[in-house]
Amino acid sequence: MVHFVGAGPGAEDLITIRGQKYLQTADVIIYAGSLVNPALLCYAKEGCQIYDSAKLCLEEVLAIIEQAEAGGLTTVRLHTGDPSVFGAIREQMDALKEKHIAYDLCPGVSSMFGAAAALGCEYTLPDVSQSVIITRAEGRTSVPERESLSSFAAHQATMVLFLSSGMADKVQAELLEGGYREDTPVGIVYKATWPEEKTFRTTLGNLSTTMDREGITKTALIIVGDVLGDRYEKSKLYDAGFSTEYRPATVDSESSDAQKDTILMLACSKHGYELMLRAKYLWEERLLGNNAPDDAYAKEIICKVKCADLPEESDTRSMTEIVKAYIPKAKAIIFFTATGIAVRTMASFLKHKSVDPAVLAVDEMGKYCISVLSGHVGGANVLAQFVSGLTGATPVVTTATDLHDKFSVDSFAKKNGLVMTDWTLAKEVSAAVLRGEKIGIDTDCEIQSKLPDELVLIKHETNRAEGSETRAQDPNYEVRITADMLRIYRKNEQTLVLVPKCYVVGVGCKSNTPESAIYDAVKVCMDMYGADMRGLAAVASIDGKAEEPGLVAFCKNNELPFMTYDAQTLNEIEGDYSKSQFVMDVMGVDNVCERSAMACAKTFERVDASYGQAEFICRKTAMNGVTVSIVRMERKISL
Ligand code: SAH
Repeated sequence: MVHFVGAGPGAEDLITIRGQKYLQTADVIIYAGSLVNPALLCYAKEGCQIYDSAKLCLEEVLAIIEQAEAGGLTTVRLHTGDPSVFGAIREQMDALKEKHIAYDLCPGVSSMFGAAAALGCEYTLPDVSQSVIITRAEGRTSVPERESLSSFAAHQATMVLFLSSGMADKVQAELLEGGYREDTPVGIVYKATWPEEKTFRTTLGNLSTTMDREGITKTALIIVGDVLGDRYEKSKLYDAGFSTEYRPATVDSESSDAQKDTILMLACSKHGYELMLRAKYLWEERLLGNNAPDDAYAKEIICKVKCADLPEESDTRSMTEIVKAYIPKAKAIIFFTATGIAVRTMASFLKHKSVDPAVLAVDEMGKYCISVLSGHVGGANVLAQFVSGLTGATPVVTTATDLHDKFSVDSFAKKNGLVMTDWTLAKEVSAAVLRGEKIGIDTDCEIQSKLPDELVLIKHETNRAEGSETRAQDPNYEVRITADMLRIYRKNEQTLVLVPKCYVVGVGCKSNTPESAIYDAVKVCMDMYGADMRGLAAVASIDGKAEEPGLVAFCKNNELPFMTYDAQTLNEIEGDYSKSQFVMDVMGVDNVCERSAMACAKTFERVDASYGQAEFICRKTAMNGVTVSIVRMERKISL
């Protein structure tokens, strides 16, 4: 009997229990020595004959098996990963069949799954890719022409490339030719799950340079696809303030695709349809007149109707299909239908209130406009007021803090562009507010308005607001507004941290510096000065670096606006800066990272009233060909 056994990707405890049992009882083990971890052989029983197939040809392997069979022995043929993936087992199985030797297969964890674990990724993400292409570049083993890498690339699905690390140039060229973008994220995993495992993240445009530089030529997988990118909802801050002032020139169009700036309106009756069209018209008028709240801002308002009485106008798709098509960019979805239709249609699309669109239901006579979902963060409550104003409806808002006209921590965070770090705790804080408890507030930012009754200021040396000495009672819960790592670290279980975006990092780098080196340098500097990464508001550099792939990828993957400035602007920034003659010669300015960080902070101060003066917390620091400096900007918040 022969057992073909998947050894797993490397780590000796990633073999299956069945596979391990076979190893323990085998009389003969033939293992693929080039890729199977020899540590697995320690499961073999005493006296087991062990052969490394790396040194054998097919006939020799078969001869060993035949001899074992003749002696009534059991053989394990140990293959790396899972035997069914590039395992060359078919030829062995066919030969065994011919010789009437019994065999079976025991699956294993393929290296492609070891690699996913190493990268911490999911290969299949809704709306990004729902397919995985497992393939290889053509080498000595030919690949059918209809399976060329470029033809697969057209799908832009997740792709896992085996046996291709020695041909990175070719892989890169063919995948680009086929249709993946230059900035498509790529992961390289060397010896996944082995002690010497290494992972690299880069972009397709930099694949072969990265492989060359890191000297990876074998035992690696290349993983390509947008599933390796990050997709988060963009902070409102960058949508409103900078969309006019700055964004067009500095942020690439690719990333703004992910922006949620569409309002989808749906109706399923004639009355509802007419009401919807009227609402759209009035809404657009208000936008044109610049007479709409931030939450009502939209790039487009799309109206769809599904109604047998309106055969001409009616969409062929179901409500659910329409929602599915628009949900990636929908900021709000407004149903001019019964609430039940709205709820049932939305049910399967809901993820979390931090990302779900605002959902409203307006009855077809326009009597009531109900804020159904995402009342605070999604802005549905504000929209319910707004839409009611357009249609003459009565707004219906059911979120408790609004009913009691009380402080809502999620609305507060949203309004001030603060990063919410714990939604569960936020719920607890709201519940405490409703119970009538006071909530402590401890802030590194200046508070510009009067504190509502629900809050008491907790005194600490950086609280700059007036009247800070009041500390009537010790509140159970505390809201701490800080981007200071140490202050975040020192919180207790009832401290809800909200992180203000108050740091700008200025970056200079050599051409083709990989994203990972930039990330590392920024992270090390942020850590060194106790600045939490979530507090980053923007990345700044010189315009000559506007297209620098590693920098662009870093900003994109971390959802940060990338602001660049020309040499003249940088030269004119006031202050003392360290000087480099080399940088002066190449770039026309003596210092990129410090000057650009300060230039960027000044832009914030100019265009956004919630930002104040900036100061350096980290001066030019060089690391792996990257220079970094960090400024901290004063933030003002209002309640
Ligand atoms: N059956 C195996 C693949 C065998 S083909 C499996 O399921 O994983 C050999 C190729 O697999 C190598 O060239 C390399 O691309 C990949 N590979 C195998 N083990 C690997 C590991 N631990 N890390 C990264 N790639 C690995």
